[in-house]
Amino acid sequence: MGEVVNNQIIDDRDTPVSPMASLSPLSPEDLAALQENLREQRLFREDQLRQIAAVPSRTDALIQRRSAAQTEVRVKLAASARMVLADVEAALDRMAEGRYGRCHLCRRPIDRERLMIVPQARYCARCQQVREAGR
Ligand SMILES: [Zn+2]
Repeated sequence: MGEVVNNQIIDDRDTPVSPMASLSPLSPEDLAALQENLREQRLFREDQLRQIAAVPSRTDALIQRRSAAQTEVRVKLAASARMVLADVEAALDRMAEGRYGRCHLCRRPIDRERLMIVPQARYCARCQQVREAGR
């Protein structure tokens, strides 16, 4: 890592003078706003998961029959909430370690505009598109 093998790698700004300085599109204010956004999302998802888990357990046959479909919806909701929560927590970890805002695939900084919309994004818009097209 960080070794200059040929000219292509020079663009990989891995020399950490200040970790944040290498992520040019993001100012400290941007990072603060994104961190707050991520923390709010984390709270929201944790809350959502608590609510999903806190469904009253009834033994009534009619309610049980009706709730079979609801259970399926709940399981799906919980799964997606957990997925987003994991992404949000991973983004907060990256932020704490000073390597936030860089694409996991091409290692280029992710566009500021993209991060403002999806603060937990792991990939730049281009790599995300490639991944989705490959499904
Ligand atoms: Zn990328």
